[in-house]
Amino acid sequence: MKIIRDPEKISIETGKNKQLKKRIGFVPTMGALHPGHFSLISRARKENDIVAVSIFVNPAQFGKGEDFKKYPRRFKQDIESCRRLGVDLVFLPDRDNMYPEGYSTFVNVDNLSDCLCGASRPGHFRGVATVVAKLLNILHPDALYLGQKDAQQAIIISRMVKDLNFPVKVKVLPTVRQEDGLALSSRNAYLNKQERSVALVLSKALRLAETLIRNGQRNCGRIISRMRQLIEKNRPAKIDYIAIIDPEQLKELRKIEPGCLIALAVKIGKVRLIDNTVIGRV
Ligand code: AMP
Repeated sequence: MKIIRDPEKISIETGKNKQLKKRIGFVPTMGALHPGHFSLISRARKENDIVAVSIFVNPAQFGKGEDFKKYPRRFKQDIESCRRLGVDLVFLPDRDNMYPEGYSTFVNVDNLSDCLCGASRPGHFRGVATVVAKLLNILHPDALYLGQKDAQQAIIISRMVKDLNFPVKVKVLPTVRQEDGLALSSRNAYLNKQERSVALVLSKALRLAETLIRNGQRNCGRIISRMRQLIEKNRPAKIDYIAIIDPEQLKELRKIEPGCLIALAVKIGKVRLIDNTVIGRV
């Protein structure tokens, strides 16, 4: 396994592999790797000749007052996980070689970036789209592996890939959860014991919505209000948003449609968590 910090060097490395007609699968991450990341890496391992993982806590996607400084950084442990999972290339750039002095170019995916998580995190998806565009240009992968856990991010990146003609196939894999339902997230590390148990309200609210839909409820407003009631019973949970939307335009729906997305963000004390579910057939 090669660990490379310099963008030019990793471009040369992936370029060599492409000349040899090797298929490259790429998993971008911010590190503090957990089984959610592992599932993306394992799938990439199965489907490609070369697996590249980036670990970069991207400053451009954190707003003022957000957790950039305290975001968990466990590079040593992450590198060991990558080794164990059979990763070929770990890209570990630093801030200065991703955003050198004078850096001025950003990618903005209009219409999709200002709602839901983008409403409370202005500029977040601009930072995400920019870093992913840069990583795709640096690594030239054939396939890009993303998690459904960050549904809006996956939708925005898929849109960007299509709109900007990146020659890469986007694969979105299911959310990995703990046994009790909590979606794995590097930010779960911030939760104390009591908050960890309150954090279960996100997945519980989604399961409630699924049950209501299974029992015939189609009115989005009613479903959201039942989810709201459930969450509000649990202090210190504070709802940022609950939305039922179509998965392409992210427009709010009045009635449940096949393939619609139910997404929510809830603050548990100071920790903001997100989760979502896709409704299949109705
Ligand atoms: P992050 O390190 O949080 O930027 O996440 C890197 C990638 O892992 C993104 O595509 C995430 O959607 C994905 N991911 C994070 N948590 C999970 C999870 N619990 N299940 C599946 N994928 C995940």
